[in-house]
Amino acid sequence: MSQNNQKEVWVFIEHHQNKVQDVSLELLGKARELADDLNGRPAALLLGNQTTELINQVKAYGADAVYLVDSPELAQYKTLPYSRAACQMIKKHDPEIVLFGATHTGRDLAPRIASALGTGLTADCTDLKIADYTHRDKVYEKILYQIRPAFGGNIIATIVNPEHRPQMATVRDGVMPIPSPNGNGKSIDIIPEEVYFDKSDLAIEILKQEFEEKSIDLKGSQIIIAGGYGFGSKENFKLIRELADALGAEVAGSRAAVDAGFVDKGRQVGQTGTTVRPKLYIAVGISGAVQHTAGMKESSKIIAINNDPDAPIFKIAHYGIVGDLNQVIPKLIEQFKNRG
Ligand code: FAD
Repeated sequence: MSQNNQKEVWVFIEHHQNKVQDVSLELLGKARELADDLNGRPAALLLGNQTTELINQVKAYGADAVYLVDSPELAQYKTLPYSRAACQMIKKHDPEIVLFGATHTGRDLAPRIASALGTGLTADCTDLKIADYTHRDKVYEKILYQIRPAFGGNIIATIVNPEHRPQMATVRDGVMPIPSPNGNGKSIDIIPEEVYFDKSDLAIEILKQEFEEKSIDLKGSQIIIAGGYGFGSKENFKLIRELADALGAEVAGSRAAVDAGFVDKGRQVGQTGTTVRPKLYIAVGISGAVQHTAGMKESSKIIAINNDPDAPIFKIAHYGIVGDLNQVIPKLIEQFKNRG
């Protein structure tokens, strides 16, 4: 690998229909923090075709440099040409850290790259930081701490990769805030490169793609009312919909509520569902298992309604109502309706 003395933190830019995906913007914010701790710089790895608009978006969200491969072979995401291009770019420019969204694309691409480069990869991180690490009296300075739930979410594991480069991680969508766009006026290094594709990389041709618009936008909602197994039945879960209508909120659920068929899987919040950070999150009949709170604890205000005063959800709630949801929710609906 060529020597890069800049200690760069790269973000693989995922894009769809000429729009950079939120997870990549979230990672650009984190890359800036990590790069500051490393005295390095955050950079984007942008693979695609006709990328001018994408470069503008990446620049606005904080990248100092864009490593760019703009090629018709990269017009749509395909595993082999994308991994070929990414590996060549990483080998040539030797970044310290490379981050991917833990999306379908990131989960497909990152392990291939890590394996081809003979380095490690931590999947599904929920936090990242830079710190020194000591092992058998040897101090590794400014290593990437890759933090993620393990053993079913019951412990939080910190994983390091001190000996190999780059240090690589995929990070869950929604766990980090999107930075405010403010980099429009600044200059940015654009480093265009050509890559070599093997004929076998291009064996797959995409003939047609169909996209379905997402009907649920939990991540974009300012108010979320989530119901748990405490509702007892799908019929009773209707109460939560009435409350959500009265408040203009989106409905969500715990995994137990999803498994019981009270609410659709697409509305599950938590470790294996969506991560949300609304202005207001109301958790009703939800115990507050770590796998649930992992997906909502960054909400600005949390209100919990539970008939068990010792329910763990009260430990992270800003306000708590101890009571039977069957009595509390109708009263809330009435109050909100009366206030218009
Ligand atoms: P319960 O734990 O059964 O809690 C129900 C609550 O309702 C209780 O606190 C009870 O006091 C209260 N209650 C009962 N009746 C009433 C009433 N009348 N009025 C008021 N309160 C009442 N869970 C998720 O939510 N999201 C995930 O993404 C997720 N991922 C997981 C991943 C793994 C690998 C594993 C192992 C588990 C995962 N879970 C997830 C499951 C998680 O561990 C819990 O089992 C789940 O969150 C519990 O859901 P709950 O709080 O609705 O149900």
